[in-house]
Amino acid sequence: MIVVMRPTATREEIDGVRRAVEDNGLEAFLSEGEERTVIGVVGDVERVNHLGTLPGVDQVIRVSSPYKLASIQEPGERTRVRANGTEIGLGQELVVMAGPCAVESREQLLETARCVAREGARVLRGGAFKPRTSPYSFQGLGLPALKLLAEAHEVTGLPVISEVVDPADVPIFEEHVDILQVGARNMHNFVLLKAVGQSRRPVLLKRGLSATIEEWLLAAEYILSAGNPNVILCERGIRTFETATRNTLDLSAVPVLRELTHLPIIVDPSHGTGHRALVGPMALAGAAVGADGLIIEVHPDPANARSDGDQSLSFDEFGGLMDELRRLQFVRAPDSQPAASPAAAAADNIEEVRDRIDDLDARLAELVQERAALALEVQRRRAPNAHGHDVRRERALLERAASGTSGPMTPVELTLVFDALLRASRSVQRRHAQSVTEAEAATAGSGR
Ligand code: PEP
Ligand code: MN
Repeated sequence: MIVVMRPTATREEIDGVRRAVEDNGLEAFLSEGEERTVIGVVGDVERVNHLGTLPGVDQVIRVSSPYKLASIQEPGERTRVRANGTEIGLGQELVVMAGPCAVESREQLLETARCVAREGARVLRGGAFKPRTSPYSFQGLGLPALKLLAEAHEVTGLPVISEVVDPADVPIFEEHVDILQVGARNMHNFVLLKAVGQSRRPVLLKRGLSATIEEWLLAAEYILSAGNPNVILCERGIRTFETATRNTLDLSAVPVLRELTHLPIIVDPSHGTGHRALVGPMALAGAAVGADGLIIEVHPDPANARSDGDQSLSFDEFGGLMDELRRLQFVRAPDSQPAASPAAAAADNIEEVRDRIDDLDARLAELVQERAALALEVQRRRAPNAHGHDVRRERALLERAASGTSGPMTPVELTLVFDALLRASRSVQRRHAQSVTEAEAATAGSGR
């Protein structure tokens, strides 16, 4: 800490600051310039927070960060948080957490849980106690919802996250969920922060509606200093003058935090925007700025959701977003470790397996030629300048390929294969159309 004295400070005032520092067991180093005196303070500066109020003091500059445990001690330091099989942060791929804003019923939760698990989410979210702005809005199912989340974990294997609003509920949450969420409205609830700080479960701490990054990190410090090292920060938008979005999603917080803290950082584009159509683009943007994860609201029937329907994705929309995250390689396709094919299993040695591959390649070459011949036939039967390919059927084929996961190829890899096939097939059709046009032009020319 550096204390800058006023140019008019007297000798007594300078000595007064030095005494205040030393009486608190800290060291003071005076540097007397021509115009003013500057005092360097070394030690636990929390004890001398009042120096700015002493006579003759102009300003006090903090040098070390006030959030000791949350701050980075060595360049590049990062923490990885483990939650019942899912790891978040430190070189892990993007973790997608998804599920309904609120648990509404067993069917709604299990249907959503199965969908998000199938699509590649790694954590299931679901609110049991909802901190709603209005006391008349749906407040959540409470304890029965926690039991349903535990059941959904059994069914899907996904760790579950839910928001705890009352310090007294921490033990019951620990029994049923894997990650405790502290919501934006409770970021400044220091009693709750201390309570989750004593928990064994990881904590996801959302940014307060109008919290600065420093206040947010100090809230994290409450949890860390209470003994819980597993804190994940979640940027969920802050309140600004803008009304076109529910909140202003401060994505610059992600790289800012990277410089300041080792804690994992995730982005919530659902609460951050409040509009379904904006969730996908801002999720991709969050991934692009280096978030360790995303948390996304998904509902089987968003139009009839009991909370936050406007910002909840349908199953199809969530599937589309996951495909996009895979296509951009923020998320890997699920590892498929299929059993060796019967043909390969029956082979005695590597040469035999290779021979079978050669056979298959020969058959594939014949098949793709046969397919191209059929595409050509379609082209022949249409007007020469019309396209032989049918975009709708092509898209359906690519979608089918992308959803086929029964072999070792991922949907992305399968899509690449079919995409190449379709392009080659179109090129055959185009060549044919061109030769017909040229032949007609030649006939017309010789007739003149
Ligand atoms: C939530 O995630 O359901 C929620 C209420 O979020 P926030 O605390 O960010 O408003
Ligand atoms: Mn919500």
